[in-house]
Amino acid sequence: MATNKMKAQTPAEGILKRSEWGDAKSYQVTCECGDHNHDHNVWVEADETLNVTVTIYTTAKSKWWSKNRWQKIWTLLSKGYIEYEASIIMSKQQALNYASTLKSAVHDVEQFRQDKSVGKPL
Ligand SMILES: [Zn+2]
Repeated sequence: MATNKMKAQTPAEGILKRSEWGDAKSYQVTCECGDHNHDHNVWVEADETLNVTVTIYTTAKSKWWSKNRWQKIWTLLSKGYIEYEASIIMSKQQALNYASTLKSAVHDVEQFRQDKSVGKPL
């Protein structure tokens, strides 16, 4: 039976939980192609002021220097940086899981901080 109402799964397909410290959670969102250079590393953290930060990065080990080497070096010299693109490919289900993981992680770390600050003596 086909259904258009796809829901986020638990445990989530394509989303690996890396670590959890109450006020911080980290996940690895894997790319469909299997290349871990494309994976998103997601950090969700809440600080004392209940400010929530989400950091998403890729650890790309690209052989950028092998292509247009001199052009890249010139860009690096003239601009001071090299542009690098890493695309992540996700299934529909994974994208939904990604979204709901972010949503619940933001909620969880915020809740954790809130509970802590309530119990904290002045
Ligand atoms: Zn990929």
